[in-house]
Amino acid sequence: MNENLESRLNFIEQIIEHDLRDNKNDGRIATRFPPEPNGYLHIGHAKSICLNYGLAKKYNGEFFLRFDDTNPSKEETEYVQSIIEDVQWLAGENLSNRIRYASDYFDQMYNWAEELILKNKAYVCNQSPDEMRDNRGTPTTTMKPSEGRNFTPEKNLELFRQMKNGKFNEGELTLRAKIDLNSPNFNLRDPVMYRIIKSEHHRTGNKWCIYPMYDWAHGLEDSIEQISHSICTLEFEHHRPLYDWFLDNLDNVWRPHQYEFARLNLTYTVMSKRKLLELVKNGLVNSWNDPRMPTICGFRRRGYTPESIRAFCKEIGVAKMNSIIDVVKLENAIRENLNKYALRRMAVLRPIKLLIENYPDNQIEQLEAINNPENESDGTRLIPFSKNLYIEQDDFMEEPPKKYFRLSVGREVRLRYAYYITCTGFDKDENGNITQIRCTYDPSTKGGASADGRKVQGTIHWVEVNNAINAEIRLYDRLFTKENPDDPQDPTDYKTYINPNALETIKNAKLEPSLADATAEQRFQFERIGYFCKDNIDSKPKQPVFNRTVSLRDTWAKIEKKQ
Ligand code: ATP
Ligand code: MG
Repeated sequence: MNENLESRLNFIEQIIEHDLRDNKNDGRIATRFPPEPNGYLHIGHAKSICLNYGLAKKYNGEFFLRFDDTNPSKEETEYVQSIIEDVQWLAGENLSNRIRYASDYFDQMYNWAEELILKNKAYVCNQSPDEMRDNRGTPTTTMKPSEGRNFTPEKNLELFRQMKNGKFNEGELTLRAKIDLNSPNFNLRDPVMYRIIKSEHHRTGNKWCIYPMYDWAHGLEDSIEQISHSICTLEFEHHRPLYDWFLDNLDNVWRPHQYEFARLNLTYTVMSKRKLLELVKNGLVNSWNDPRMPTICGFRRRGYTPESIRAFCKEIGVAKMNSIIDVVKLENAIRENLNKYALRRMAVLRPIKLLIENYPDNQIEQLEAINNPENESDGTRLIPFSKNLYIEQDDFMEEPPKKYFRLSVGREVRLRYAYYITCTGFDKDENGNITQIRCTYDPSTKGGASADGRKVQGTIHWVEVNNAINAEIRLYDRLFTKENPDDPQDPTDYKTYINPNALETIKNAKLEPSLADATAEQRFQFERIGYFCKDNIDSKPKQPVFNRTVSLRDTWAKIEKKQ
């Protein structure tokens, strides 16, 4: 292959292309995404999904969504369902025939455990977890051997079968691999393979009361599925020798090869299922799919598209060095994606009335507006216009500063898709609050352009009063105020850095009437405000809720500059 092309491939693609050239595994490529169903998926998992699924697609290989469901006490079917939904959404296809469960392999794993016992490579141990830790030794001292190390294979086999048959209580016995009392890699100091857990499993029910440890099970699962390239995050690098040891010591097993890549970390975000669960449990967010959450379902509800997340994952690439990615990259990916196909609409978030004094009473005009300047085929729509409009409160100032180009008394601006108007005055209530702004319009500027070439500096959006839809608008911002809320050097709890303004709710926004039949699948740009989508959970027929996916520009850059 051409060297230039090769250098543009990520390191895993380079490995795959070499393997294909060598016809390794007869050219078979298989990858998998192996979540433990103990929480909802987050944007870090998205990186792994895009990588594994993407490689299988690119190289015409097989992809499996495999549930690593080896711990019945933390796993729930709710999580299984959500994970399937999220992975399919991200992949953009139904994957029902690609789904696998580690629990389907329990019998095979059990037989392999007996094989190791008979080969005198595994034994039953009666130490408690505390004793095990105390006996493990230090990098310079040897591990204190467990009694079971010297039992005969027959005795260990008998004990192991009794464990399986429920003769012992939780914590009483474990099965351990007999590997190395001195290894500098602690994963090889006789790791536990099975422990007793007497709880019901979401798939196998009460069939088992011993469950495989992750490290014992993981490589076997890859072997059973004949995964050619088992890709995982860097923290598993020191587990690889253990996975290899297990497979080396079993007869006639397929040998997968593991490759490690750097996990995704994002600024202003925490990325651990345990912490995300804590946010939900403590009521700091409303749910796993709260649009403030960095979960895939949270992003989906907020209006992120699968294309934008895939584009983001592609942009950040695959490396072998851990780093923290600026969340701005993710926000830019969704902006870029939505700019292409979001339908432009007008919405007034904080309305104030505008009265056009010289516009005929009782007249309603239908004005043509472009749906999407980026895509002509989206066409145009008609929006009603009359003498009573809503505009944004902050598009008017009583005493404007120099560079304010919107409305103030005597100033002329353009009403988007409509006319030029000139502000003539305003009304106040007894408390001194502005209740209405007055203006006149120039009928010769229909469509928003003047025949005499007169220019205006400001264009503002509006919604006609009688046809407006009332809506609730939810403006989202980053969930944390600190760039690295999870900093291991910082003793302060990450929850302290929750951004209290991550959600702002606006109750009485006014939308143009075409939004009456908006669906949750559609994406909108509310002109001059940001990208929005309809909330599919909280919207009611007469009171829709819209979520802001992302603002039009990166407002944080400005704030950070000021600081
Ligand atoms: P967490 O650490 O957030 O609790 P996990 O690693 O325990 O997640 P698993 O269900 O074990 O979650 O992960 C499934 C797959 O996703 C694993 O292969 C893991 O390496 C990968 N993964 C998890 N977090 C990230 C991340 N931040 N970036 C990339 N891949 C990740
Ligand atoms: Mg894990």
